Amino acid sequence: MPKIPHRLYLTEDQMPRQWYNLRADMPEQPDPMLNPATGKPVTEEDLYPIFCKELAHQEMDATTRYIDIPEGILAEYMIYRPSPLIRAYNLEKALDTPAKIYYKYEGNNTSGSHKLNSAIAQAYYAKQQGIHHLTTETGAGQWGTALAEACAYFGLQLDVFQVKCSYEQKPFRKAIMEVFDANVIPSPSTTTEAGRKILAENPNTTGSLGCAISEAVEKAVTSESCRYVLGSVLNQVLLHQSIIGLEAKKAMEVLDEYPDIIIGCAGGGSNLGGLIAPFMQDKLTGKADPRIVAVEPASCPSLTRGRYAYDFCDTGKVTPMARMYTLGAGFIPSANHAGGLRYHGMSPILSKLYHDGYMEATSVKQTGVFEAAVYFAKKETILPAPESAHAIRAAMDEAIRCRESGEAKTILFGLTGTGYFDMTAYSAYRAGSMSDYVPTDEELAQAFSTLPKIPGVQE
Ligand SMILES: *Cc1c(COP(=O)(O)O)cnc(C)c1O
Repeated sequence: MPKIPHRLYLTEDQMPRQWYNLRADMPEQPDPMLNPATGKPVTEEDLYPIFCKELAHQEMDATTRYIDIPEGILAEYMIYRPSPLIRAYNLEKALDTPAKIYYKYEGNNTSGSHKLNSAIAQAYYAKQQGIHHLTTETGAGQWGTALAEACAYFGLQLDVFQVKCSYEQKPFRKAIMEVFDANVIPSPSTTTEAGRKILAENPNTTGSLGCAISEAVEKAVTSESCRYVLGSVLNQVLLHQSIIGLEAKKAMEVLDEYPDIIIGCAGGGSNLGGLIAPFMQDKLTGKADPRIVAVEPASCPSLTRGRYAYDFCDTGKVTPMARMYTLGAGFIPSANHAGGLRYHGMSPILSKLYHDGYMEATSVKQTGVFEAAVYFAKKETILPAPESAHAIRAAMDEAIRCRESGEAKTILFGLTGTGYFDMTAYSAYRAGSMSDYVPTDEELAQAFSTLPKIPGVQE
């Protein structure tokens, strides 16, 4: 019998009661967000029309290291947290590797992903401020689902702009959001000025997260008692997601383990930023030196092929500009890309850490991702979300390298969600009709040409 159990759940007493704000330990801060109208750094007050006050504060707060999780949020976290830390014994055996593989599984709640961790927090603070109505965008649908659940719980009205190709490919995602009373609109739509403009320029567009964000922000700022919320990229979202890493680190402590390599998939960076937070703290403060690896799709390679530049967070250019690794707000990934992680940019915090050499990034092609997903599912009995399977691919590749080198490394990766709503993609993979798409340098150059010109900052 193995000494270490297959899965470890912390007790409720061991659960973190505070989030950890990684910025407090960063030697250098990400560059400030800029107001597109003035070119000046955004202030907390500038954000009040878009975000509720406490979230605007969290967005700008780079100094408070630990932030108490309010009781009202903990009460909902306790329904589905702590999430398990699982030792992938069966996968290790199948790969015949001396490596120890652990994964933190966030797919055990009804929304099916880690996104609920931030959805609950954002809905809670909106409710506290007396806001009645929220708007958001969703790509694959996980964020919209998580937020619909959180809004139903706190009694808030919700409009979700869903990227059109996902809306069409994943009808059940829409159905779940509607069960929780969300109003789901395919984006780009004719219900907003931004959507009408995008459609006029490109009537056949399958949509992008960037387009959907423009629509959701416009709707929020033009509606009464309404705010916009975002499921990734933002500093506040990484803060809320630190619960993943804090639990994982604690559970590893209980097992007397510490990872040599930490791997996560990266779309906008929220699960990765959350998972790595306390380990990155150790790295930044010189306590430990784990390798930290972001895994992104080859079809949407913001860290590995993007520019570190100021860019809009949306296609319609209504949001503040952030300095991040980006493919250009005009970049629209190939519609044949089924694996999620379609955002053109990356969390400014992670972008800065990557730029300064504290973490690595790699990209993987989708057929390799689905191959890993199916292999993993057969050994570990969890059907992973395609997004999560990017991390599985990279973790398996590391474990295979350990087999070749004979090193018994300890690997921790984030398994962010379930794949039950991605069966069209799984079927395409099984039927052999899935292909890989990698944008050419010319296509990327085209998208980079849409980067904003900011006098004195970025010409
Ligand atoms: C949204 C999502 C991701 C990617 O978003 P990040 O903000 O980069 O974490 C990854 N996995 C799942 C299951 C998701 O729903």
